[in-house]
Amino acid sequence: MARVGFIGLGNMGGGMAANLAKAGHDVRAFDLSAEALDKAKAAGCLPVASAREAAEGAEAIITMLPAGTHVEQVYRDSVFDAAPPSAVLIDSSTIDVATARRVAEAATARGLLAVDAPVSGGIAAANAGTLTFMVGGSNEAVAEAKPFLDAMAKSVFHVGASGAGQAVKMCNNLVLASTMIATCEAFALAEKLGLDPQAFYDVGSVSTAQSWSMTSYCPVPGVGPESPADRGYQGGFATALMLKDLRLAMAAAADAGADVPMGTRAKELYEAFADAGEGATDFSGIIKTFGAGATAD
Ligand code: NAD
Repeated sequence: MARVGFIGLGNMGGGMAANLAKAGHDVRAFDLSAEALDKAKAAGCLPVASAREAAEGAEAIITMLPAGTHVEQVYRDSVFDAAPPSAVLIDSSTIDVATARRVAEAATARGLLAVDAPVSGGIAAANAGTLTFMVGGSNEAVAEAKPFLDAMAKSVFHVGASGAGQAVKMCNNLVLASTMIATCEAFALAEKLGLDPQAFYDVGSVSTAQSWSMTSYCPVPGVGPESPADRGYQGGFATALMLKDLRLAMAAAADAGADVPMGTRAKELYEAFADAGEGATDFSGIIKTFGAGATAD
């Protein structure tokens, strides 16, 4: 088993580092938060005092940080100098495509292998080791990263060159935001038309209205499988994080000259929801702005 440096032990990284330790790796874990370090220790990792110390001697260095600025800073200030020449750098944070490409180029210039490997699946999948990874990088870099990703994954997809993992993640969440809002507005309309939400679900979930937002994460309490709607829209995927991803998608669309009218509207609606004090609410809670789902509060 290998030595792994893990930097960023928050909601997602904590569970991911724990699964690497469970797989038998020697995980040197670092976070700015003492509480996160304590949890990592309890999960079988060895807490270290700096990102540099996590990177030293590691065969793989994994980052799970809030945004691109954090990744770029940690790479520049610690990882690039401390990583052994044979190490593979794996960034699983959700960040903008341009930063992902820039850090990969900087790594390559130093002779290091690097991949962007953002995830889908949320905190439950991070804890369970059932994340889906979408990976961008060279064949060689992905082959080096794969055994480490497998310890945290249900599926690992190599989707293209550096930045391609982030591009897939952005496009995925663009669809997710739009289908969630469409599902919410349809349930609100169904209610105003006097329909039982269960009756609409029974038909929609097996008809052309079907999507993950409806059948796996239904925004109406008591309808469909258990979801954040059944917990007052707490836990799950915070509106603030969805908004972050939509902003990244909008920036990428502007750079690429792509027209994204649904994504643009979804971003406006999530911005208004977050501005109303709902940033920490699960993103399916946006159904409340359509006058439905209120019973869950
Ligand atoms: P989080 O805020 O819980 O964790 C981030 C951690 O990074 C914190 O513990 C923080 O202390 C640490 N950190 C920040 N700067 C640091 C530094 N310089 N050195 C070391 N540690 C540092 O966030 P999260 O929910 O774990 O999300 C992490 C990434 O995963 C984000 O990019 C997010 O968009 C993405 N993501 C989150 C989810 C989700 O459901 N939460 C799902 C998919 C992807």
